[in-house]
Amino acid sequence: MTNDNQSCTEQFLALDKVVKQYGSGQSVQKVLRSVSLGVSRGECVALLGHSGSGKSTLLNIISGIDRADQGEVRIGSENITQMSETQRTLFRRKHIGFIYQSFNLIQTLSALENVLLPLQLNSVDNEEALSLAHAMLDRVGLLPRAEAFPDQLSGGEQQRIAIARAMVHSPSLVLADEHTGNLDADTGRRMLDLSNEIAAAIGQTIIMVTHSHIIADSADRVLELSDGEIIRDSYTNNAQTGASS
Ligand code: ADP
Ligand code: MG
Repeated sequence: MTNDNQSCTEQFLALDKVVKQYGSGQSVQKVLRSVSLGVSRGECVALLGHSGSGKSTLLNIISGIDRADQGEVRIGSENITQMSETQRTLFRRKHIGFIYQSFNLIQTLSALENVLLPLQLNSVDNEEALSLAHAMLDRVGLLPRAEAFPDQLSGGEQQRIAIARAMVHSPSLVLADEHTGNLDADTGRRMLDLSNEIAAAIGQTIIMVTHSHIIADSADRVLELSDGEIIRDSYTNNAQTGASS
């Protein structure tokens, strides 16, 4: 993916009439109904919506884990809808970081090994990978716990490792699916500040699913999904550039 000639007004992420449905015949359920959306590079977007409104489905289609039934998804200069499964996997590995509600750390690997994983998958050489992983662990305040295993860490610590792992390879897009949902309010708030701060420092675009309007207010832009449609799209006072698309 070429980042060079993209001005920040250009859409970094573009969804065009994305449709996703499950089932068939009479039991067909439209989960996303023609969702179109443009997100600029570096934008921090909060995605609100009731349970079942299609938030996770939307993130999974953006990341290429799921495939849209109709419509297109473009990230940077790449049309991921046209990629094969293998191409999408490679693209995701390199350009997308994912943070889950349930942390999804690998229990048999230490904190450091978990953070090294995306670098190894991208064939970064060992020495550089170690130095990047150490720097990222330091950034999330857990360098002293580098050798600890996930079950030796608190929920907040595990999520900090998960944030480090999602961001260590500097993906241009970070997707977070209720990543503060399993934590108490204070820890959740700190996790959010941390992920937003790292994303801002690296110039990453971040889309985070949340139930919390307080969390949404810390984003640049708030989208709300209802029954597979975007029913709200507004910029907050944090946004550096104005108008809604
Ligand atoms: P949210 O993340 O907003 O809670 P989801 O995107 O997980 O919502 O789900 C939206 C709707 O799609 C729900 O009704 C859910 O049951 C349905 N759904 C999600 N994944 C599947 C699947 N693999 N098969 C069938 N239905 C699904
Ligand atoms: Mg969900």
